Amino acid sequence: MKITFLGTGGGRFTTISQKRMTGGFRIDGFAGKNFHIDPGPGALVRSHEFGLDPSGLDILFVSHAHIDHYNDIEVLIEAVTQGMTKQKGLVIGSKTVFERYKQWGPCISKYHKSKSDLLMLFRDQEVDFDDFRIKGTKTSHGDPTGVGFQLNSKDLIISYTSDTGYFSDIHKYHEGADILIASVLRPGKKSIKCHMSTDSFISLINKVKPKLAIMTHFGLKMIQAIPEKEAQNIKEKTGVPVIAAFDGMSIDIDYKNPGNFKIEYLERN
Ligand SMILES: [Zn+2]
Ligand SMILES: [Zn+2]
Repeated sequence: MKITFLGTGGGRFTTISQKRMTGGFRIDGFAGKNFHIDPGPGALVRSHEFGLDPSGLDILFVSHAHIDHYNDIEVLIEAVTQGMTKQKGLVIGSKTVFERYKQWGPCISKYHKSKSDLLMLFRDQEVDFDDFRIKGTKTSHGDPTGVGFQLNSKDLIISYTSDTGYFSDIHKYHEGADILIASVLRPGKKSIKCHMSTDSFISLINKVKPKLAIMTHFGLKMIQAIPEKEAQNIKEKTGVPVIAAFDGMSIDIDYKNPGNFKIEYLERN
């Protein structure tokens, strides 16, 4: 299984400036399926630049109606459905991905909703597929319908917080995760209401105790603070291997032993 980052930037100013790319990430080979998670601006272009074929995707996931998460979802649907000529793929998202809720969404046109299966995911909802289960996890963020996920297969559990502030029972949603992927927008103690910082990620890791933790979705302050230094600090404080994701980083993970992984940096074509 591979987790590949087509962007590790997050928040409005990193997105506008493209100090880091914002294409989200892929999970290839989880329970035999290929996922693209939170395809922000550049997801399609970065896929091709890094040599990944978007037409081979099975599942597209959009966690909430912020543009750094949904911008390229429609064009990825076109890639998956061969230009809207085939009934193909599954789109999983928050309510606001599919419907308007207050000032958020929808992120996908009626036309682009017509050729793929759709799953509106809510926090605490569990949906079973042939070889895995997905559970919606709670977020505390601008879009009140935003969801993270926990993917559970026989051999491996992957959790993704999406954008969220730290809240008292956040760990309960990610309990049991072998791999914990988090949006960590800010360095040090600089936690804000809607986003986690390095310190809040330390608290979450200490409670969840994953075999591997990955941080992504960096704001400008985090980029200035150097995410690799923050990751090293988290590793020292938690004893858990922590990777600061980088644009084009592909992590090859042993499915049955996720503490065993190999990092490769993809060439840009
Ligand atoms: Zn975001
Ligand atoms: Zn957001």
